[in-house]
Order: sequence, then structure tokens, then C-alpha cells
Amino acid sequence: MNNPAILVINCGSSSVKFSVIQPESETTLLSGLAECLTTEDASIKIKYHANSEGISTKTKALAAPYDHQEALNNLVKQLNILNLVQNICAVGHRVVHGGELYSQPTLINEDVKSTIENLAKLAPLHNPTNLIGINACEKAFASLPQIAVFDTAFHQTMPEKAYLYGIPFELYNQHSIRRYGFHGTSHYFVANQVAKLLNKPLASCNLISAHLGNGCSVTVIKNGESVDTSMGMTPLEGVMMGTRCGDIDAGIIFHLVERLGYTLEQVDTLLNKKSGLLGISQLSNDCRTLETTMLEGKNNDSALAKLALDVFCYRIAKSIASFSASLTELDGLIFTGGIGENSSWVRQQIIAQLSLLNFKICDVSNLATRFGASGNIAAESSRPSSLSLSLFWVIATNEELVIAQQSALLLS
Ligand code: AMP
Repeated sequence: MNNPAILVINCGSSSVKFSVIQPESETTLLSGLAECLTTEDASIKIKYHANSEGISTKTKALAAPYDHQEALNNLVKQLNILNLVQNICAVGHRVVHGGELYSQPTLINEDVKSTIENLAKLAPLHNPTNLIGINACEKAFASLPQIAVFDTAFHQTMPEKAYLYGIPFELYNQHSIRRYGFHGTSHYFVANQVAKLLNKPLASCNLISAHLGNGCSVTVIKNGESVDTSMGMTPLEGVMMGTRCGDIDAGIIFHLVERLGYTLEQVDTLLNKKSGLLGISQLSNDCRTLETTMLEGKNNDSALAKLALDVFCYRIAKSIASFSASLTELDGLIFTGGIGENSSWVRQQIIAQLSLLNFKICDVSNLATRFGASGNIAAESSRPSSLSLSLFWVIATNEELVIAQQSALLLS
């Protein structure tokens, strides 16, 4: 097969994100999203990239009930029309939780599928939907190898002192309760990009990576390996996010249930879906909306939008500062994810709160580095107390490319 491609699938509870990537040339031939699956609003959007005349997008409304299998069948039809099926040599799946078993991309067979199913006890919201995608692809692409790339895998290098909770050890030993971390593929990708920019092997880079999107996590990378990260056994731990609360006193849960009459399901919804930026602002989980509202004026909405963004930035700054406990030198701080890549305001706020570490931002490059641009946004004089020069990088993440490259590597 000439310049083979990998079909990358990221299956969520009501969506399938997909792309066809040639890993060797790092070319995306096609990408798209089927969303609102199993509802009346189901739709599929496909972008064709390979055309030298530019990217064209085709959006189709779909008849409900339209599920993951039908979305993938529709994709196969489009791939056939475009003559792309014969270029695809494997399907790479993003799988959220790999527990302690998977630190590498893995060829999917029946055993691997039942392990992913078993691990659903640690990721009930994610692993079952990832399996839906795997099963649907097995039907749609029966002759192709399927590969799982785990979101937790990059963090399997964390030492015990970072991954253990301060609870009885048998809960780890017998029930696997420990910190795992997520967004591993993204942290790995941006760290690798920065290593290239620094002209150093990743294995000698010391970095802090802040993936700030609707979900947010901060990871500290020592000699190229993840040694600590802000998310825990589930993606609920760590910094505050779009709708997730991040770290809270576990006592709040007892209080909600015992004193305020919440059911456990209501607590789950409250902390995962109604908290974070949305919970404090009472307006939106979308950083753009909050920034615009904050800048609009002095009504109650703008005050709450500012408050939500203040808490958000402060908690991220605290998390970054806390990771100085894991490093003796720092080559760079990375911002990625929808907010990290685009919000110069959020980046400025975070770095302004790290002046004790002698972090200083360059306002001009901060403003210029948005909407897909990558680059260094540190002021000339920005230097942490350790001897190495520190740079603040904005890097557009590309988890799909990592999944395609790692799948191709496994096959070869
Ligand atoms: P992600 O989950 O990585 O897609 O990121 C989604 C988040 O990125 C949302 O909170 C968006 O509001 C935020 N975002 C995207 N573009 C911008 C922008 N130009 N300025 C501020 N936030 C943005």
C-alpha cells in the first residue's frame, strides 16, 4: 500500500469524531464529527482536506434514531465514494482508561476488549462508549486491525508517591484506587513538539504542560516522562474545568448527601456537569462567552463571569507552582487545548500569578499567538530560579496524529 493511512476514531457517548491520517507525511485526508447521536438533532459533518484547492466541508442532518453504528456505516460509504477505503490499513481508537495494564498502544482482540470493559468500573462514562466505537468498527471494517491508544498510558511512569492517595493501601492493592491521569496523548504530543523546538531529545526535557479545554489537566514531565498530573482516578480531580469542579473537600459530598438530601446520582451530575466555570458563572462553561461577558460591563453576569475566570486561572497557577516540587529545572511551560491555544487573557492571568518563580509573559507575542499559531510567549527576562532558561510555549495539540502514528508504529 502506497503511503497508507490510519482511520482514527474517538467515540463519545453521543458523538463520533473521526479522521483519516497518513502518519508518515502527517497529512490529514479527511476529518469529521457525528454528534447528537440517538437524538433528533443527529448530524454528521465531514471535512475533506486532501484537496489542494482547500478544505471543503459537507454537513448532513441525519434521520433519528441514528446511532454510532449508522454513523460509522455512513462514514464507510463516504470513504468508498472518495476511494479512500483502500488506503486505510488500520483503525486507531482513543480509549480513555487503560488502568495499570496498558502503557502502550495495543492491538485489540477479545481479551483486550473484555479488559477495557472491566476497566469501565474506573471510567463508567468513557470506556463503554469507546467499546461501542470498537465494536461498530469491527463490523464496518472487518478486515482491518484495530488498535487502542489509551489516554492514561503516558502517565504510567508516575512514581508511587504521585499516584497513591492518602487512604488505606488495600484500596489500591485490592481495588486499583489510585491516580491515573488523562489527556496523556495530548501532553505527550505537545511535549514532543517542544522538544523539537528546543532541539533536544524529549528524554532530556523537563516541562510543565497545561491542557486547558473543556476538560483541563496539568502534567509535569521530567526527562520526557510524566511524573505527576492533576487528574486522578477519574477526570474529576485537579484544576477547575468547564463543568467539572476539580479538587474539592471530599467532606462536601457527605454534606450534600446527609444534610442537603442529594442522591449520589445528583452529586455526580452536580460535580461533573454543573460545576466549574458554568457552576460559578451560572452562565456558561464556554471561556469565550465568559471573557466577552466579563469585558462587557458591570452587571451581575459580568461580575460572576470574572469570578469564575479568576478561580479558574488561580487554580491552574497553583497547580503549575505545586509541580515545582517535582523538578529541579524547567525547560518550558506549555499551553494547549481550546483555551490554552486561544485565550491570551487566561494565559496572561496564569503567568501573572507566578511572578515568585520569575515567570513573565511577553504581551505582544501572547496576543499574536492564537487561533492555530504556535510559539514562545515568554518575556526575555523570564527565568525561573533554577539556572535553565524557561520558555512558555503555545502549541496546538493533535491527539489524532499521535494515535495514527502510534498505531502505524505498532503495526510495523
Ligand atoms: P476544547 O475542549 O479543547 O475543544 O476547548 C474548548 C474550550 O476552548 C471552550 O471553553 C472554548 O470557549 C475555548 N476556546 C476556544 N476558542 C477560544 C478563544 N478564542 N478564546 C477563549 N477561549 C476559547
